[in-house]
Amino acid sequence: MNGKVSNNKDYQPAHEYSCAQELVNNLPYIAMTVLGAAIFIVGFEDPVWGWIAAIAYVIYSVAGAFWIMIFLCPYCPRWNGRTCPCGYGRIAAKLREKKDGGHFKEKFKKHIPVIVPLWFIPILFGAGLVVRSFSWPLLILLVVFALDAFVVLPLFSTKHSCVNCAQRDSCPWMGCKGQ
Ligand code: SF4
Repeated sequence: MNGKVSNNKDYQPAHEYSCAQELVNNLPYIAMTVLGAAIFIVGFEDPVWGWIAAIAYVIYSVAGAFWIMIFLCPYCPRWNGRTCPCGYGRIAAKLREKKDGGHFKEKFKKHIPVIVPLWFIPILFGAGLVVRSFSWPLLILLVVFALDAFVVLPLFSTKHSCVNCAQRDSCPWMGCKGQ
């Protein structure tokens, strides 16, 4: 954390999230996982390979969430508190002890790329298949996946969760948006 005090008019004090709010905030990521898996099931001609790819994608998605909890959340001031919008911070506290928050920015840059392929693998796979052999169900799934992954999920982060975050001035994601 760089210690700057935000002067952005959108900044709000830390908000405490109920379990129901945490669940709602996780829904776009859960939807992305389900839609991504569905793209593999619908896209593969051989249903066995479709299910194998779908299960692998779901495992990657769940493992990615735990990766963030283990390697990023311990550096966040929201670790082990109700101010984490998705509840990862409280789970993280059961997995690892608190770490030096001064390394948050560095850890964010290092560990976020681990989960980024989740946004692109279903799109690349599905788009290739739609071009090769057009299918309406696959195209509709792709569009809904893209809307969720690239519109709804970022909106939840930047307009709902990040707006209350004490870490926003040191966050590379929010920093880029503010430039
Ligand atoms: S706000 Fe983000 S980095 Fe911080 S504890 Fe929650 S999920 Fe982890």
